[in-house]
Amino acid sequence: MVLLNRAFEEENIKTFFSYGSCVTQRVYGAIWAAPYDVKAVIIRSLSNSCDMNPHTGVTYYEDSITKIPIAAVSTAAADALSYFYSIEGPLSVNFELKCETLPDRLSANVIAETKGNEFSNRIIAMGGHFDSWDEGEGAHDDGAGIMHCFEALRILKKIGYQPRHTIRCVFWINEENGMRGALKYAELSELNNEIHVAALESDRGGFTPRGFAMDSVLLSRAKNYQDLLRPYGISELELGGGGVDIGPLKKQNKNTQLVALVPDSQRYFDVHHAETDVFENVNKRELELGAAAVAVAIYIIDQELD
Ligand SMILES: [Zn+2]
Repeated sequence: MVLLNRAFEEENIKTFFSYGSCVTQRVYGAIWAAPYDVKAVIIRSLSNSCDMNPHTGVTYYEDSITKIPIAAVSTAAADALSYFYSIEGPLSVNFELKCETLPDRLSANVIAETKGNEFSNRIIAMGGHFDSWDEGEGAHDDGAGIMHCFEALRILKKIGYQPRHTIRCVFWINEENGMRGALKYAELSELNNEIHVAALESDRGGFTPRGFAMDSVLLSRAKNYQDLLRPYGISELELGGGGVDIGPLKKQNKNTQLVALVPDSQRYFDVHHAETDVFENVNKRELELGAAAVAVAIYIIDQELD
């Protein structure tokens, strides 16, 4: 049995970079280990908190390579295994997996939209994903994201804003396990000759918003608003929008400007893909600030792009 125990690099201020450099051990661990006559792989959960919860996620197999079991243990358990190994040498470990892959079921994206009064055939999409891993409720990943966007639509209506473009709020399905909702959405969008001017994704948790990551055309326009955003703590504007669910739209039309809401990332991996990702761990005020930030971003996009 092999323990893959690469820990998050704590020097990264943005924890998603730490996640990115560790995630390969979960995604490819079973493929890496199989040629070495390994019976099973244990991985350190992808989290920078020391907790007792396994954090799950996508793992890959290849048909040409023996499929061996792979399981995530909590960061605390990984530290304990590593410590006992350093003292006692080879350990005897038993684990029992009860997970299974069930047959596919029909599912759907959920969409709400309000028509634009100037470019009704040009769409600004915003959303997140409707599915989650079954350990927790997916409250931050990605219940918060879809509520950010749904609430942003409500805010814009409430203040009587007349959008120039059609604003569409999308709850994409199946992001965690194949992104079939995003692919189907892009496929139908192309079939219907829809033009997406921009697409915003919120999939980084319901934490205090700091700003936005954007593609370059939009970024250069949004910088004119930076002084207005500063009092609300959302003036961090960085290059590089995008997200799993909106990525396929960019593949179709390279002019579509992708945007990501960027909240503070320090606590995201405390709950990510774990049983602690529940509604009780979402702070109401932080969630509301995120929704307001999305409404602001949609306003800027709607005003600045044609
Ligand atoms: Zn997510």
